[in-house]
Amino acid sequence: MGATIFAEMSALAARTGAVNLGQGFPDTDGPPVILDAAVAALRGGANQYAPGPGVPALRQAIARHQRRRYGIDLDPDREVVVTTGCTEAIAGALLGLVDPGDEVVVLEPYYDSYPAMIDFAGGVRRPVTLRAPDFRLDPTELAAAVSDRTKLILLNTPHNPTGRVLDADELVAVARVAIEHDLLVVTDEVYEHLTFDARAHVPLATLPGMAERTLTLSSAGKSWSVTGWKVGWATGPAPLVAAVTAAKQWLTFTSGAPLQPAVAAALDAGDAFPTALAHDLQAQRDQLVTGLRAAGLTTYLPEGTYFATTDVSDLSWASGGDFCRALPERAGVVAVPSEVFYDDPDAPGCGRHLVRWAFCKRPEVIAEAVRRLGGADLSA
Ligand code: GLN
Repeated sequence: MGATIFAEMSALAARTGAVNLGQGFPDTDGPPVILDAAVAALRGGANQYAPGPGVPALRQAIARHQRRRYGIDLDPDREVVVTTGCTEAIAGALLGLVDPGDEVVVLEPYYDSYPAMIDFAGGVRRPVTLRAPDFRLDPTELAAAVSDRTKLILLNTPHNPTGRVLDADELVAVARVAIEHDLLVVTDEVYEHLTFDARAHVPLATLPGMAERTLTLSSAGKSWSVTGWKVGWATGPAPLVAAVTAAKQWLTFTSGAPLQPAVAAALDAGDAFPTALAHDLQAQRDQLVTGLRAAGLTTYLPEGTYFATTDVSDLSWASGGDFCRALPERAGVVAVPSEVFYDDPDAPGCGRHLVRWAFCKRPEVIAEAVRRLGGADLSA
């Protein structure tokens, strides 16, 4: 296995001095409430192993967050496990729930750890493609991807890299297929707070008949601008959470002790920070999308997340990868080629020519990237 596309592109940005709109991480800090609580925990001696499932204060705060925001009731002792970022929750879920030969239906383009962990588990992925320009989930294609070997559907909404926020019709379609075929659903909702234009994120677990078959994953990194903390969680039925906990024992054993009470403080401080962040991100999205379009790039408007997508085929590029590798020299900017997020990027409607741009950056940084792109020759 090589380096992830995110590590490769961040290294490229560092090497060339380009504006890094590749890897999705904010360039501003999280709020004082979370930083101060972490310092207090560090100074207060919370520096030895946390309990495997996570410190009780954080598990309780996660349960309160799910109840307050979505009306989901969870037993913090049996239905919540703390993980080292959502990435470990994904790993734990797939290693804990998928046996060799089991099929996993996954939205494509997919976050790169999904295929890696499906492989680690010995599973077989069955992608269902979200296609430009709308990136909608087609219920017929979803149903067709299910077989008698399907173990679970791996969902992601708000969706990285397309920025789609699945709507009620799409969620109902997922629920219908899952119930009809008695499938589990693992749903990665790390961008749950980061939606735009008054669009609401609806957890799949809130749909009728879904709580008992849905494992919901999220984290603090995106919502509180602390992506380097790597504090995530999985919530849902006790047997599914137990499967993640069992796998987690052999992955990290426990997650960072002083960061857990800090994330609990952030969750209990309410939604003011993530709501303001989503508001700012919407303006940054508009700034970047306007700039990308002005630079001649076909650009799709995302409904949530950190990311916008462009199509570079009309600029005569053979692939988004070629475009992204030339971009630092051409324009002093780094973006991520979405082609790596597909089984077959050349299949109809797939992402050979799609490029992902992160707008979780200060307005002056986006302005500089846009200025550079506007002054560059972006055709092949
Ligand atoms: N989730 C972030 C992204 O999609 C960073 C991922 C990573 O570096 N593994 O860009």
